[in-house]
Amino acid sequence: MPNYNEITLAKELIRFPSITPIDAGVMKFLAKKLTAIGFKCKILEFKDKNSKPVKNLYARLGNSQPNFMFAGHLDVVPPGNMKDWTIKPFSPAIKKNHLIGRGANDMKSAIASWVVAVNNFVSNNKKINGSISLLITGDEEGVAINGTKKVVDYLKKKKEKIDFCLVGEPTNPNKLGEMIKIGRRGSINAELTIIGIQGHVAYPHRAKNPSTSLIKILNEIKEIKFDKGTKDFQPTNLEVTKININNTADNVIPGLARATFNIRFNNKHTSSSLKNRLNKIFKKITKKDKSNFKVDYRVSGEAFLTRPNKTTYMIQDVIKKITKIKPKLSTTGGTSDARFIRKIAPCLEFGLVGKTMHKVDEAVSVSDLKKLTKIYYNILENYLK
Ligand SMILES: [Zn+2]
Repeated sequence: MPNYNEITLAKELIRFPSITPIDAGVMKFLAKKLTAIGFKCKILEFKDKNSKPVKNLYARLGNSQPNFMFAGHLDVVPPGNMKDWTIKPFSPAIKKNHLIGRGANDMKSAIASWVVAVNNFVSNNKKINGSISLLITGDEEGVAINGTKKVVDYLKKKKEKIDFCLVGEPTNPNKLGEMIKIGRRGSINAELTIIGIQGHVAYPHRAKNPSTSLIKILNEIKEIKFDKGTKDFQPTNLEVTKININNTADNVIPGLARATFNIRFNNKHTSSSLKNRLNKIFKKITKKDKSNFKVDYRVSGEAFLTRPNKTTYMIQDVIKKITKIKPKLSTTGGTSDARFIRKIAPCLEFGLVGKTMHKVDEAVSVSDLKKLTKIYYNILENYLK
């Protein structure tokens, strides 16, 4: 077995400037490392007519079940203002016991920890009772069209059975061990256009001002009490994110008024139940005002929850043993690729501390990284031995 170390491997991964959706050779590099451990690797490139091609990786070690999968991404967000960085973002360095570099936190280091944990586990065990696999995408930070979503479809088609999936995204707000994510809220964006009739402000009876209906609608939808939240989820919330009337004259009643809003919803709703409810309000108000509306919805994901099972509690115990903190089972935060994987396997997310995600001088504590390798090793040991 090769002699891998999580810090060295994390640095090697960070050196590839894999700014989403560019691969920069990182997928092939990781595949080579995994092949040396004994994995069978398949690089899956997907394309779509409206989006750039993306490289993904599915790797599996062993043929028997259960198959324990780790999921993550090797793409990173752009570095932003280079002048604000104390190092070059793709030339990682260790300062004050922190590894700094773009992707150090989100989430190349967690992938390095997982690979080292697997390598150690395979070295220490002649035979494993099951399989270990990895699903690594290059399209998590981007549009998420040619990434995990399509790998999941591929795995379904190949009848590849995944018994449990651990997503290695940074889940801890401040300290390693604080938080496991067992589900995520759903997210839906909507762009609403109210269509009126343009005219002279002095002759309102000859025009139809769309802003009047828009204001009433936004007021009514913001007042909706969707729910009070559940044991596992925060209450559903709607936020207006844009209001736009593209009018350059002060003496013209505009013909169109637009607003964009986002809803983060729990598992008491689905995107279609919410759409139905909102559409009724749009119809009611525009009918009364004799205006018209058009609405475009974009659903990023439905709410989901993996009910805690014995693997969840095993992982919670392992984390507690190593960090001395009992992690909370949470569903807070944004969406992640678990929204796609949950269609083929129960999912849980646990990774590093997410404080510096997407920031300049993105960093990870070296001791956290070593602890994470231990945690991942113990999870494998408990699950597969
Ligand atoms: Zn991430």
